[in-house]
Amino acid sequence: MRRVAVSLSDLDAAIDAESQGWLTRPNRKWSEIKVVYLRLQGWKCLFCESALPEVDHDSAALVAVAIDIDHFRPKNKCTIWPGRRPASVETNTMTVLAKGLRSGPAGGYPQLALDRLNYAVACKPCNSSFKGTYFPILGTPDATGSTDIAYLNQMEQPALLFPFGPHGDDPAQFLQFMGPLVTARNSIDDAAGTRAQVTIDLFELDTRESLLGERMALIERLWPALERRDEALVAGLCADTSRSGHIECQRAYVALYGQDRESARLLYEAALTYTRSKTPR
Ligand SMILES: [Zn+2]
Repeated sequence: MRRVAVSLSDLDAAIDAESQGWLTRPNRKWSEIKVVYLRLQGWKCLFCESALPEVDHDSAALVAVAIDIDHFRPKNKCTIWPGRRPASVETNTMTVLAKGLRSGPAGGYPQLALDRLNYAVACKPCNSSFKGTYFPILGTPDATGSTDIAYLNQMEQPALLFPFGPHGDDPAQFLQFMGPLVTARNSIDDAAGTRAQVTIDLFELDTRESLLGERMALIERLWPALERRDEALVAGLCADTSRSGHIECQRAYVALYGQDRESARLLYEAALTYTRSKTPR
């Protein structure tokens, strides 16, 4: 997960350039400005950082297949998050974690259905399979129908990180990578730790096969590039504009290579072993 720190004025300018008058049009549709979010997010899912297919504005069918709009605050209803799916964990710690949480208002946030600060693009699994209508919070659910995102964030304290826009979180403050594995930073306070862990658990960022496989494939490219000092390739893979996805994971791996080469080598070996185990013989 990566911060997309666009200001409100820059976002509005980009929206207006894409679809003039969209911000004040009564019958506006999200799909008309979806590409703005794709560009700002570098064609990556906001939550899992996997690469989204690059499509042009008119490829509506393809967009619909692979890329979802996420309303961060669900527009019609909020469902209580029951905790991490039991099949993925060996203990019931996560259920305990979920018990300490509340949920956004049962009727959702219809007032934010067309709010540009409540949008992001996400991959199908993150949006449909994992997030759905869950909106766990640490604070008090809004009962006023407010459209003030800063106020809502302060009162509700969303348990999920949302790294988009002027009120967005900086995931680097919450999450850390060791090779393909993501964990909550251990230097953060309890509330921040809960937010980090709920985000990892709800999206299963640490165990989804597809994400682990993609991150390990990138480590397999990075290690030899680092060894032969191919700085252009390394910089390209780790750039904000990179189409590879998983930028945070790659940057952490490059930093590890600089600090602890033996661990980086072991992670590379583990990635190779993993890939071989997945390759049909
Ligand atoms: Zn995703």
